[in-house]
Amino acid sequence: MIPCQVCAATERHEFATRDHPHFGPMTLWQCAVCGFVYLDPMPSADALAAQYDSDTSDGYFAKADRKLARSKRRLRRLNKFATSGRFLDVGCNGGFMVEAARAAGFETIGIDPDPASIDWAQNKFPGNTFQRGTLEEFAGTSPEPFNAIYCSEVIEHVPDCNAFLDAITGMMTSGGVLYLTTPDLDHWRRPENLDAWDAFKPPEHCLYFSAANLIQLLEGHGLTLVHRAIAFKPGIKVIARK
Ligand SMILES: [Zn+2]
Repeated sequence: MIPCQVCAATERHEFATRDHPHFGPMTLWQCAVCGFVYLDPMPSADALAAQYDSDTSDGYFAKADRKLARSKRRLRRLNKFATSGRFLDVGCNGGFMVEAARAAGFETIGIDPDPASIDWAQNKFPGNTFQRGTLEEFAGTSPEPFNAIYCSEVIEHVPDCNAFLDAITGMMTSGGVLYLTTPDLDHWRRPENLDAWDAFKPPEHCLYFSAANLIQLLEGHGLTLVHRAIAFKPGIKVIARK
């Protein structure tokens, strides 16, 4: 069994089971101590990547204007804690946040494992650097540290969130900030029927956080919460400083 990735407790209870057409029977467990929910057994990162649902449909990019406007709002929030220097978007999709950061004066890089997203982003926002690949691959190139890292709706896909955060914090300057978002299992508007919640999709989403255990995880990696946005949808949006 996998101990809780947030608090290392092994006491847990079954949270949900589902039968998946490709992965077969799946069990989600909830840590009895911190409430973190996770798949066990966990599919391998490769198996998950092979199933990765590319989000470059026409519908996605038809919302480009709205996404860029949202990114500019988020960038203004980020700017309260970081105003210049190097910016990295981990899982950048169409590159909207990367472009917003560039326009605000950052030197920007966006990475994403999906080649279609990277092609689209590079074509649409040529003033930025976009690279295809995973966080681990990118971190392996030992890039110069970043003053700001943005990582939106990615950590819930990651089988080992501690390795993931080690890679992220290893690329941050001292005093640098991380803007992280993920679905909120404990949100007051999260549907009680999990199947009615658009963020409930094991095994793609293999980790499910509450704000409290996400903040605990970040603190365990030497990050201090500096901002938590009010969310009217079941999502957590936090900024933490190294
Ligand atoms: Zn726990």
